[in-house]
Amino acid sequence: MNFQVDDMKVLGAVEGGGRTIKNVKETSKLDKDEVEKILEFLMKSQLIEAVEGKGIWGQTQYYFNTTDEGSQKVKEYIEYLKDEWKKIIQFVTDGQRDELDEYMKENKFLVNMMLFFKIVNLPALGRLNLRFLIEGKHLCYKCKKDLGRFALKFSVSDCRKRGLKMPKGLTTHDDLCADCFDGLAVR
Ligand SMILES: [Zn+2]
Repeated sequence: MNFQVDDMKVLGAVEGGGRTIKNVKETSKLDKDEVEKILEFLMKSQLIEAVEGKGIWGQTQYYFNTTDEGSQKVKEYIEYLKDEWKKIIQFVTDGQRDELDEYMKENKFLVNMMLFFKIVNLPALGRLNLRFLIEGKHLCYKCKKDLGRFALKFSVSDCRKRGLKMPKGLTTHDDLCADCFDGLAVR
């Protein structure tokens, strides 16, 4: 069985007490269609079960629960995330920033899932200067500062145009903030 991060989010939401599609949708922040598809998959995998009941308007509604197997899977996943967090901290304490970057490339969304399952929180990531590990945020390649929607950003082609020495590993998907761009040496 191949579990995607979204499957774990939905399973976690049900385990955390999300009993209706609406609850699960709110906790997981996924589309309704996506939630329904995943709930069906989790039922087929016997990790959750649905009980038919009546909603507040008397309509037929399904209420979800995790099975023992489902609860167990969430517990194991939380243990796995805790171990992964220790690995990340180890990289940081050892100053292995390149290894950490590589590890995070291979394990996308790992920190997002740690936040979802409350293994870590945003203030803790901030204190450790690790907010850049959250996938989906747009950050300066060099200093990892958050590049907001309206922030000045500079790309590989900007560096080439001005004949600047690009930071090692900068790709066309990355951007630099104005400060880092200004600090680049001329070739
Ligand atoms: Zn920067």
